[in-house]
Formats: sequence, C-alpha cells, structure tokens
Amino acid sequence: MLSPIRLVSEAAELAARRHNGMARKGRGEEPYINHLAEVANLLADATDGADAELVAAGWLHDTIEDTGTTREELAQKFSDRVASLVVECTDDMNLSQTERRQKQIEDAPHKSPGAKLIKIADKVSNIRARIVPNPSDVQRNDLGAYAIWAEHVVAGCRGANARLDSIFDETVKAAKRLF
Ligand code: ZN
Repeated sequence: MLSPIRLVSEAAELAARRHNGMARKGRGEEPYINHLAEVANLLADATDGADAELVAAGWLHDTIEDTGTTREELAQKFSDRVASLVVECTDDMNLSQTERRQKQIEDAPHKSPGAKLIKIADKVSNIRARIVPNPSDVQRNDLGAYAIWAEHVVAGCRGANARLDSIFDETVKAAKRLF
C-alpha cells in the first residue's frame, strides 16, 4: 500500500495524464484537470486530510467513465477501496443523459459514505463551473436544470460531512441568484 502522500500524488499524476487535452463544460472551458483538482481538494478540506484514499478517488473519479481506465488497474495501482469508490461514481454511458440523471437520484442513498462525499464535491464543482458572469439564456437554463437535479442527488448523499453539506448549500444559493 502506498503512503498517503504517494497515493494522492500518483492519483493526481495518472488523472492528469488520462484526462490530458480534455476540456470541461462551463466557465472558459478550463482544462479538465481543474475539475479533478477542485473535487480532490474539497474532499481533503472537508475531511481535514484524514482520508488519503478518498482524496485519491477524488482525483480519479472520472477516469473509468471518461478515459477507459479499468477498475482492475485502479485496484492494482492504488487499492481496492479507491477502485470501488471510482466505480461507485461511474455512470453507465450506454444510458441516455436523462436516464443517467434519474439513476443518480435513485442510487445516491445506497452509495458508500465515501462515494456520497465525492458526489457532493463533484456537484459543487460542476455548479460552480456553470456560474458565469452575464450568462446567456442557454447558460442560465443549463445552470438551473443542473442545480435542481444536483439538489435531488445530494438529498440522498448528505448527512456525513457537515462542512461539505454547507458548501453545497452555499453553492446552490449562489446559483439560484442567476436563474
Ligand atoms: Zn466529475
């Protein structure tokens, strides 16, 4: 098992390489790695750095869904728990976006405590990216739809970490001023 610092560092490095060249949706089409750094840092902060596997999984949470990385590879390089956390945060891309969003709402309450925290941090980051100055109607509608859906998902995830719950609530409040 890697030391905590190595675990997080290796996870960040793998995520950077696997998502290389990808841009994220929203705010200035930032490099995708900015999203992963934000999610990992929200998790590290919310847990006061007590759970390196959780922070590593934060860096890696989109690797299976978006980069073709496998559960086996993550289990072998990191740990079984890191791999499981990432699997829990992976959508079935054979489903339509509507089906995936509905499934996330239904599945959220049944996730492990760590996966619930990753999902909340993910939603915080994705809402923040959609809060842009002078949004167009399309951007405003996208933000509104995303934030309302995220509230339903997070309803099934909250209760494990008061700090993260309140950051999510603040983020939604900021979003709601725009739509
Ligand atoms: Zn994500």
